[in-house]
Parts: sequence; C-alpha cells; structure tokens
Amino acid sequence: MKIRFIEPGNLPYRPSPKNLYVYDKYIRTPSNGIITLATILKREWDDVLCYSESISKIIWQDIYDADIVFISIFTFSANRGYELAQQIRANSRALIVFGGLHATLAYREAIEYGDYVTRGEGDELLPEFVRRIERGELPELPGVVCRRDGEIVSFGEPVPPRSLDVVPDRALMYNFRKMARRSTIWPQVHASRSCPHNCDYCALVAAFGRVVRTRSPQNVVEDIRAAVDFFGKRMLNILWITDDNFFADRKWAVETLNAIIESGIKYSFTIQARYEVGFDDDMLELLKKAGFEELALGIEFLEDESFENYHKKSTYSEILRSVRNIQSHGLRTRGLFIFGADNHTPGIGKRLADFVIKNNISGVLIQSMYFVPGTPVYETHKDSLIDQGNWSRCTGKAVHYPKNMTPAQLQREVIEASRLIYSRRRLIQAIFGKRGSERILFIGEYFWQKEVRRDMKRELPYLESLTTEKA
Ligand code: SF4
Repeated sequence: MKIRFIEPGNLPYRPSPKNLYVYDKYIRTPSNGIITLATILKREWDDVLCYSESISKIIWQDIYDADIVFISIFTFSANRGYELAQQIRANSRALIVFGGLHATLAYREAIEYGDYVTRGEGDELLPEFVRRIERGELPELPGVVCRRDGEIVSFGEPVPPRSLDVVPDRALMYNFRKMARRSTIWPQVHASRSCPHNCDYCALVAAFGRVVRTRSPQNVVEDIRAAVDFFGKRMLNILWITDDNFFADRKWAVETLNAIIESGIKYSFTIQARYEVGFDDDMLELLKKAGFEELALGIEFLEDESFENYHKKSTYSEILRSVRNIQSHGLRTRGLFIFGADNHTPGIGKRLADFVIKNNISGVLIQSMYFVPGTPVYETHKDSLIDQGNWSRCTGKAVHYPKNMTPAQLQREVIEASRLIYSRRRLIQAIFGKRGSERILFIGEYFWQKEVRRDMKRELPYLESLTTEKA
C-alpha cells in the first residue's frame, strides 16, 4: 500500500527570500496532526509520506501513484483541498479520503469531493480503515462517511482513541527537515486534546467533544526532545505547545511541567491559555521554571456583553487582573482577539490597540469572526455570511455582515488595530528597547502584519461593493 497525506494551503509555498525572515503572509508550519497519523500508519505500511503546502510543493507523480491519499482540511484550506482532490481524481486511481477539523464537521460537503470522509481523530480509525481497504472490504467503521446510490451514508459517530502516546516522526513530512532550519517555522508539540468549555464559535469542541484527553508526561518530554533535535540550532529557540487548553487538567499540567523541568531540556516555550491560569501563582512559577517565556491568552473580546453573547466564560476585569498577575511573574502575555461580534461597532480597532499598548501585551493575533459549519455561531449567523461555501477567506478577513458594521468597516478595523499595534514607532521601540526573543518576534510580526494588512486592503473595494449590493 502506498499511502500519502496532503495538507492543502490556500497560499501554497513558493521559494522566496521572504521565507527566511518574514512569515510570508501567514505562519507557515505543517500541523502535527497528519504527521502523527502518518507515524501510526508507518508502523504497518512502509510507503507513507506527507506533504504540506505550507512548506513545499507537491510532487504530483508521487501522489498519482498512491493507493490512498488522505487530505486533511481546516476551514480556510477546504476549497483548496477540494481543488486538489479534483486534480487527483482526473489523473489517478487513488482512493481519496478527507479528514481533519472541517471535514469532521462539514462531512456532507467534503464527501462530494472524495470517496470517503473519516471524522474525528484518526489514531485508531485510520489503521483499521486501511486494513479493510487492503483486504478489499468496505470500511464500514464508526466515523466513516461515504456515498452509496447517491445517498450519504455515515457508519456512526467517531470513537476517540484510547491512547495518544505517539511521538510524531517529523521526517515523514516532505521537505520539513530543510524548512525547519528557517526561523519562520516553530517546533510544535501537542500534548493534550480538547477543552471542557463551550464557546459558541469553537470548532474544536464541536468536532472533538469536551472531554480532555492527555498524553503521558514522559511521552510529551520525549516528543519535545525529538522536536528540538529535529529543528537543530536556530536563531529563535522557542517551541510552541499547541494545545487549546493545556491547563484544563491541572494535575496533569503540573506533572508535565515537572517532567519538563526534570528532563533538563534547555529551551524556551510558548503556550495558549485561558485567563484563569493567571490566578494560579504556583502554576506560573512552574511555567517559568520549565522555560516558558509567554502565554498566548485567548482573550477574544474586551466587552462583557460579547463574552456573554458567545458563551465565553470571562469578564474584562478578570482578564485585566490575569494579564497583570502573569506579567508580575516575569512572563509575557500575547493576545488572541476576535472582531465582528454582534455588538461590535466602528472604533473597535483603536480600542483594542489602546488596550494592547497600555497593558504591554507583546503581540496579537486578530481575526474577524468566522463560522465553521457545525458550531453554534454558524447556526445563528449562516444567513449573514458573505459567500457561503467559499471558505478560503476564513483567514481572519471579514466573512459576514456584522450587525453594527459593514463587512468593509469590519476589515478596516482589523487593519487599523494592526497598524497601530505594529507601527513603525513601536518597531523602533522594540529594536532598541526589547531584548532576546521578544525583540525578534516583534520584528518578525511587524513584517508579517504588514503583509496581512496589504492583503486585506487589496480586498476593500470588493467588500465595499458587497455593501452596496446589499443596500
Ligand atoms: S476556551 Fe478556547 S478551546 Fe475552549 S471552547 Fe472556548 S475557544 Fe474553544
């Protein structure tokens, strides 16, 4: 069996000097998910390889010769994934199987472009799926979807895997070793899955449920060591723990941080977190001791009304208290924000920039709200989407008609916040006033945000015309 994985990217990689120092529009890094699945399949089948369009071109003849091609799609890359599937279908007899977050939730859409969809986590599903295909049997397994006599057939809800203890073999990702030496890609480790909360816009819990599952601390440490070795010496030695809510299981988080400390690994880390961790002084001290430099807080909004409307358990005053306490422990804070809530009005860009600058938030990721099918927010807002089914703009751009702004105004607010936060004056301040990774990151983000703004500005005439059409 020749098995190939593809991770499509709607801005496919092309060699450019920019890749050496700029994030080149969006952060280029392959996700650990398909590498983990490829590692599992490689135990039984010899010929397994992954491609990620974020870091390389696809060798098409290698794909056309495959027996099975798994295509893993996020929402923003779904259309590109469908395009690739059509190309494969026209040139190959390979079985095309969709998976990933978007395919799990929008399987009725994805099945139109492939032979099968595998929903949920594939750690245990994919090996059995391939065995059945190899034996010439139908893979009628929970989590599998196909078409029969024109009807969509689902063989039941996906079953989560029992163990997550797999160290992904990053060498199974084509071109990764070469690209890993560049500073625009971060080593990543995913230590736990899911989150017990239930925010209306969260595709993660909609797809994978709210039961948190963890890898053993020793397995996490082994993976960190492997990632650090794989990436070698680089300008910026920071590893990103990509969990959505690492601190959901506190006891496990403490054990894992202690295991990192005991391992003696000397590396810097960054991690996503909810604001509550900012009140846990013992945890913050442990993070510092383990080599963590900053926490990326999913702050999302600055208004209590938005938190309430989207069932995000949070308040503005708690966020502020948390940010201050984290900083008092010598850790930096980064903020992830959403624009385009029903109560958002023009001026939000400036308000956010003031908040970020005043509270010394080191960096931001600002996204216009987007709506993954299967999430509560999609159900309540599907009639206000600009272009149903065109998911490729779900990269932070305005994709809906917000209640109190036009789509163009929304996009302008994102541009404005980015312009004020990543201004030339603040760049100079960072160059002369900041040190180490904080300085390097700000410089990288300055150029990255410049590209993002340019891309968003280019779209403004289109968004203005939509507004006119709607009026
Ligand atoms: S806290 Fe974060 S990961 Fe958890 S449900 Fe909300 S958005 Fe999703």
